[in-house]
Amino acid sequence: MRDFAQGIARFQQDVFPAKEELFTRLAVRHAPHTLFIGCSDARVVPELITGAEPGELFVIRTAGNLVPAYTPGADGVTASIEYAVAALGVRDIVVCGHSACGAMTALAHGHDLSGAPAVADWLRLADASVARTATPGDVPALVRHNVLAQLANLATHPSVARALAERTVTLRGWVFDIATGRVEDLTPDGREAVPAA
Ligand SMILES: [Zn+2]
Repeated sequence: MRDFAQGIARFQQDVFPAKEELFTRLAVRHAPHTLFIGCSDARVVPELITGAEPGELFVIRTAGNLVPAYTPGADGVTASIEYAVAALGVRDIVVCGHSACGAMTALAHGHDLSGAPAVADWLRLADASVARTATPGDVPALVRHNVLAQLANLATHPSVARALAERTVTLRGWVFDIATGRVEDLTPDGREAVPAA
């Protein structure tokens, strides 16, 4: 395993002291303003991209930044969404896709996922986005369709549906480009209504 001792020591010596006041406040208060749903991809780092400080983003990361539509029953993604929206009262929800996404590339190019059956099952959640992508193999188009589809899925979660009806939350869809650092906003005005599926 990679030795993280140096990194932790550097955090404690250099980073933490500069933010000690912030961490003192955060020790007794958890009030993020945004639920950030991104891909698990190691190159997509929510706080780095947005310049957010600790305490600002409630983060869910899944393969392909997929959000299953609501179904009753225990599910970590649903529980985290509900907690962020209903308990913490986030005001914005961002779904962030990204360039060169392994999940979207596998789907767009029909990669053989028989060696990773759980991944294959999970990615079936993006079947509709694949169907909506006019040119097979067009990864950037699939990434965009997929982000918008997740906004629609989010709206099926009762906590989100309630917050949308009360206009206390806004849904946003972004695409992060790894090579240039650009963030494309697919919903420049925010989405207060249920997005078109
Ligand atoms: Zn990805």
